[in-house]
Amino acid sequence: MIEKFEGIIINETPYGDNSKIINILTKEKGLVGVLCNNVKSIKNPLRTKTLKFTYGYFHLYYHPNKLSKLADVDIIDNLKNIRNDIELISYMSYITDLTYQVIKQNDDSNIYNIFISTILKMNEKQNPLILTNILELKYLDYLGVGLNLTSCIKCGSKKNIVTLDPDEGGYICQDCYTNEKLLSPKCIKLIRMYYLIDISSISNINIKKETANEINYFLDKYYERYTGVYLKSKDFLKKINSLTA
Ligand SMILES: [Zn+2]
Repeated sequence: MIEKFEGIIINETPYGDNSKIINILTKEKGLVGVLCNNVKSIKNPLRTKTLKFTYGYFHLYYHPNKLSKLADVDIIDNLKNIRNDIELISYMSYITDLTYQVIKQNDDSNIYNIFISTILKMNEKQNPLILTNILELKYLDYLGVGLNLTSCIKCGSKKNIVTLDPDEGGYICQDCYTNEKLLSPKCIKLIRMYYLIDISSISNINIKKETANEINYFLDKYYERYTGVYLKSKDFLKKINSLTA
């Protein structure tokens, strides 16, 4: 029986001469491995619909806990704006690789929603750095290292918060503050906003470049220290960013 799934191809592995195995992150079942027979042959109409980043409805002979088989694909959106922009492609590569690492550790169905809404907003040409940071911040909870953004991590006070400490993973109040590097108050506010915002509702976020970069730097350090996730695509993204800065 053929079943239909909404999803996006997040990676692929060659299989034999003309076939491949794709991993689709689906809305309904999380990560699904799919054998695509003969799709690399030029004549196969599914050839271009089984490439990485294809976002569509996948018609599958679905086998839970085994490889499923591909029957057909209907494209939902070809993400043209991303495909035509090398900077956006590198952002997409990074968040796709990151999503794969996160979903392997935690198959919460909300991860799909965060990922797809980020990609669609990127395709609408919303600021890719801000979107990426929002996604990174939201993923921390699924990686089991979420920030404490409700009260001082040392004493529990909700008053006089002065900074956010990447080493402790949360707010620090005035009384507990020793010599942690101070994030600007704007950053602290925005990080909380990033954490709470519904990505699909974003229409125009206007944040100063230096503030956005400060948040990016904070998240970068936090990921390095706490998540154990290392991705080559992140290094590549950094190179691209330093070229366009
Ligand atoms: Zn305190």
